[in-house]
Amino acid sequence: MVTPRRRLAVLAGKATGALSRATRRGGGTTFPGDVARAIDPQVLRRLIGDLRGGAILITGTNGKTTTARLVAGLLQGMGARVVTNRAGSNLIYGATAAAVAGAGLDGRLRADWGVFEIDEATLPAAVEETRPVAVVVGNLFRDQLDRYGELELLARTIQGALERLPEGGRAVLNADDPRVGEIGLGLPRPPLWYGVEDRSVSLSELPHAADARTCPHCGARLEFSAVYVGHDGVYACPNRDFARPAPEVVATSVTLDGLDRICIEVGGVRVEAPLGGLYNVYNVLAAFSVGTVLGLNQHFMAESLKKAVAAFGRQERFERRGRRFTIMLAKNPTGFNEILRESERADGRHFLIGLNDRIADGRDVSWIWDVDFELLAGRAEVVVPSGVRAHDMALRLKYAEVTAATEPEPDLGLALDRLTEATPEGGDAYLLCTYTAMLDLRALLVQRGWLRPYWAT
Ligand SMILES: [Zn+2]
Repeated sequence: MVTPRRRLAVLAGKATGALSRATRRGGGTTFPGDVARAIDPQVLRRLIGDLRGGAILITGTNGKTTTARLVAGLLQGMGARVVTNRAGSNLIYGATAAAVAGAGLDGRLRADWGVFEIDEATLPAAVEETRPVAVVVGNLFRDQLDRYGELELLARTIQGALERLPEGGRAVLNADDPRVGEIGLGLPRPPLWYGVEDRSVSLSELPHAADARTCPHCGARLEFSAVYVGHDGVYACPNRDFARPAPEVVATSVTLDGLDRICIEVGGVRVEAPLGGLYNVYNVLAAFSVGTVLGLNQHFMAESLKKAVAAFGRQERFERRGRRFTIMLAKNPTGFNEILRESERADGRHFLIGLNDRIADGRDVSWIWDVDFELLAGRAEVVVPSGVRAHDMALRLKYAEVTAATEPEPDLGLALDRLTEATPEGGDAYLLCTYTAMLDLRALLVQRGWLRPYWAT
């Protein structure tokens, strides 16, 4: 039954969304959720009740957006109607806004599935209100330094939320992440574990941005026999009281083809996706695992993932003035290191690095000292430091002995012009940005007519 209050909440939310799109306030991603919840605090719970399938939540430090998009793609490939929240609007208001946008004027949600990326700290509320059939926890990396120390607390928050999953709800966890392993081993019902098994793509040691290397039980330093991304790999405590759980959904025979394609084998099925980088192997594997929980056919999933597209801002590509541009979001040391490694594999030589220090980026930018910019030394032909903190970036590059670094140019537009000029025709240029720098850059590209606004894509 649709109560009048719920219907009013939905209508008011929809009107707010239309108004903010009309006034171009960034696509109106969360404000409709605020308005709808102010009228009916239960509106999300009620709308989710209309879903025929149910809700799927995706959380973790890196890869939420891409994983959510892959899962949504799998479901849409079956002809299902899927409601998803937009990248970055991953609080309860963003999920509510998405549900409101998917509802009809009668106040009913017209969809089969809800796939929501959820901020780690919001997971308890999201589990409570959406009663999900699956919750993915991809990884728990240290975000920026000013949030350091919160990882333990976040792990406990996530564990608490997973303990309260409804009957039939399944946790889908990355076995290769020690923090996620710790969470999952403490759950009353066994999760579905996924992980990578291919030594040919592992590093011999932890990159220096890695954290979470100690045993949660005895505090001893974990020993890694393989390291894949950040602190994710195959680990065990030397005192034998903690080790990586054996994954059920496993990626073997990993092939990385620059930024264009990954290929893995999962349970004897060859899975290809037009995404680059080892971190995307984890995102594809997470989506495959959700599909496994839902009982989807493996061959169907493999076919569907071939057509995947990178989520907004993560590896968006476009061509202008005879150059190919790739936008990559880099919001923390682990993510940044992965992107630098990927650009190295793709033989990238021309870069713009946009560093901002707004709240969404983390106000303290000293985390850039944990990023291995040394990877660019001797390889890059031009690196333009830009964004609000262009000068800090320039200093970091200087210490990394990146002689190709230019003078800092805080103005993203001028920095982009400088990069375009320095990139030969037919060449590749990489735009590596923190979150708000990416939004600024994207807005600029839309203004110049180089890209479409993201709410229109
Ligand atoms: Zn131990």
